[in-house]
Amino acid sequence: MNKEFMKLNFCSLSSGSSGNCYYLGNEFHGILIDAGISATSIRKFLMNNDISMQSIMGVLITHNHIDHIRGLEVLTRKKSLPAFTTGKVWKSILTPKTKITYDCIREIPLQQKFRLADFDIEAFPVHHDAPETIGFHICAGDKKITIATDLGHICHTAAPYLKAANLLVIESNYDEQMLANGRYPHFLKARIRSDHGHLGNHQTSAFLADNISDNLSHICLAHLSKNNNTPELVLQTLQHTFSERGIIMNGKQKISVLNRNMPTNMIRLIE
Ligand SMILES: [Zn+2]
Ligand SMILES: [Zn+2]
Repeated sequence: MNKEFMKLNFCSLSSGSSGNCYYLGNEFHGILIDAGISATSIRKFLMNNDISMQSIMGVLITHNHIDHIRGLEVLTRKKSLPAFTTGKVWKSILTPKTKITYDCIREIPLQQKFRLADFDIEAFPVHHDAPETIGFHICAGDKKITIATDLGHICHTAAPYLKAANLLVIESNYDEQMLANGRYPHFLKARIRSDHGHLGNHQTSAFLADNISDNLSHICLAHLSKNNNTPELVLQTLQHTFSERGIIMNGKQKISVLNRNMPTNMIRLIE
């Protein structure tokens, strides 16, 4: 059903290696992207924001890491919430031990639009150390939202989806210096830095500097490492990269660093 809507809100409930969950919704329907926090925390967030659970039409899942699916079983079993991801990601999630309600499983294709309530959604592949990892590009009215939270580098396939966004949720996982000087074992540092790991602050800043445009109204820096990053370093690196390249913000772009374990303020894309 395609209804005219007057509002469009986005919110990060939690972003980082302890749990990822994002909400996008209008006055009629909403969707969740990832369910890496408990179903109880999700329910509380919705209640606090006067959003009914019945208005949530589904949850989109990016990959099988626990920080993205922690609440998924309960959401399907207790709330009968349909969950959408690719066949390969489902295969990696569904083991004999998982208790996901069979009726809630929805398999989606890669790079092919599908419609869910008022949202046109397209999954695109990203490079990360899970059997398959996807980002989501979502069109709602005339707004485009792209979410890419776990990726070792931004490949040619993913880049156009990121560049097309009005609101971009992009990973800025680690400060290169903190990771190098930190206590992680060598193999783990190598995994994080690899093309199938996570994006560092300089990588993300360079991508944004190369691709900043007037269309990009909201930049949400996401999935910060608890041990190898701080919100201050994320912003400093971005400001430094922009000033080095002579990039002057047009004053309309809003930049936020998403909190690791608390909901951010609701971003109103249409009001
Ligand atoms: Zn993650
Ligand atoms: Zn991951």
